[in-house]
Amino acid sequence: MPKPAIALDLLLLPTWLVPVEPAGVVLKDHGLGVRDGCIVFIGPRAEALKCEAAEVRELPGMLLSPGLINAHGHAAMTLFRGLADDLPLMTWLEQHVWPAEGKWVDEDFVRDGTDLAIAEQIKGGITCFSDMYFYPKVASERVHNSGIRAQIAIPILDFPIPGAASADDAIRQGIELFGDLKHHPRIKVAFGPHAPYTVGDENLEKIRVIAEELDAAIHMHVHETAFEVQQAVDNTAERPLARLGRLGLLGPRFQAVHMTQISDEDLALLVESNCSVIHCPESNLKLASGFCPVERLWQAGVNVAVGTDGAASNNDLDLLGETRTAALLAKAVAGSATALDAHRALRMATLNGARTLGIEATVGSLEVGKAADLVAFDLSGLAQQPIYDPVSQLIYATGRDCVKHLWVAGKPLLEDGQLTRLEEPQLIATAQAWGRRISGHDE
Ligand SMILES: [Zn+2]
Repeated sequence: MPKPAIALDLLLLPTWLVPVEPAGVVLKDHGLGVRDGCIVFIGPRAEALKCEAAEVRELPGMLLSPGLINAHGHAAMTLFRGLADDLPLMTWLEQHVWPAEGKWVDEDFVRDGTDLAIAEQIKGGITCFSDMYFYPKVASERVHNSGIRAQIAIPILDFPIPGAASADDAIRQGIELFGDLKHHPRIKVAFGPHAPYTVGDENLEKIRVIAEELDAAIHMHVHETAFEVQQAVDNTAERPLARLGRLGLLGPRFQAVHMTQISDEDLALLVESNCSVIHCPESNLKLASGFCPVERLWQAGVNVAVGTDGAASNNDLDLLGETRTAALLAKAVAGSATALDAHRALRMATLNGARTLGIEATVGSLEVGKAADLVAFDLSGLAQQPIYDPVSQLIYATGRDCVKHLWVAGKPLLEDGQLTRLEEPQLIATAQAWGRRISGHDE
């Protein structure tokens, strides 16, 4: 039984508390106590009210859950949102995205685009995101200032990119940033070889050695399209995932983004090496890349998280919406209405994300001892009535406009739908100025 009279910084009293772990549980009329940024109490309301608390917040009609974890994205690409739509992946990349990046991406772009992404994500209930974009040091500074939590994956390609003259340069900068942020409470640095078709064996081997040495994660787009797999098989008679396995990259620290193409051998390799898969259904749908078989992976015991991908291929950073899409799509792909039910979908967007990023001991569920990364959704509106199962209502009938409050490590980043640390009108004006410049309306 929870002990009464604990001294708390903050006591939250929502109508529903969904801890995610244990699975499938909804606690009605319970309280959650926070001290020094951590969850120190979860118990019935009557017990909770015996605690001494500096601040008590009643959250009537609200569901309190762990903050959502966006396990894959390219934050600063918010500034390219809607620039090139309705195109297949390689045309989109080679004829639109890469040229635009070459022309526009610098440190200012990454600063402003990352701030815009962070603000959008906080307003959408996201307490932690994974980023893979140029000038990662700049992105890490924006994460630090904003109060959100993040994994910063250092982008590595065989050719020069904005901010890195070569793969070696990118790796060197990555090692430096990893060292600088090793003890940061909210930021983890990972290595992000872009994709099997943009990084050759030599650089992948270097990345493997360094990641092993530093115990760092590897975050990589893998098997995004059937074309990628077919091209590799035609040229080398080897599937990309098998190649990564042969090079020794796969393991519990490996995060495979997309995986729309999975053969029996691929599945066995994922299971055996204990990799995580990050499912980005809306980006895959929009680029007609294919479908990640989430239910099949889940049943085989593979950890599956969910990500929005960048705003240029989605086009929003709405993880709640993404989770709904994932839950619906999983049923169509599996040919079964029981695939990825609402409770498992929420788990995928929280605890599975934390496990993917290697931070499940700190976040991902509401448990005593974990960091207070929390989000309160308002389910009192007419579109949510009546409420039989609040988790079902959250996944299938609630939009991100219902996100009311959000905390990271106990610090409020959203109060009553308003950002506490970022200036929304200024972010909008800055994004509009970039839009005018990029579209040529400023000259
Ligand atoms: Zn991506």
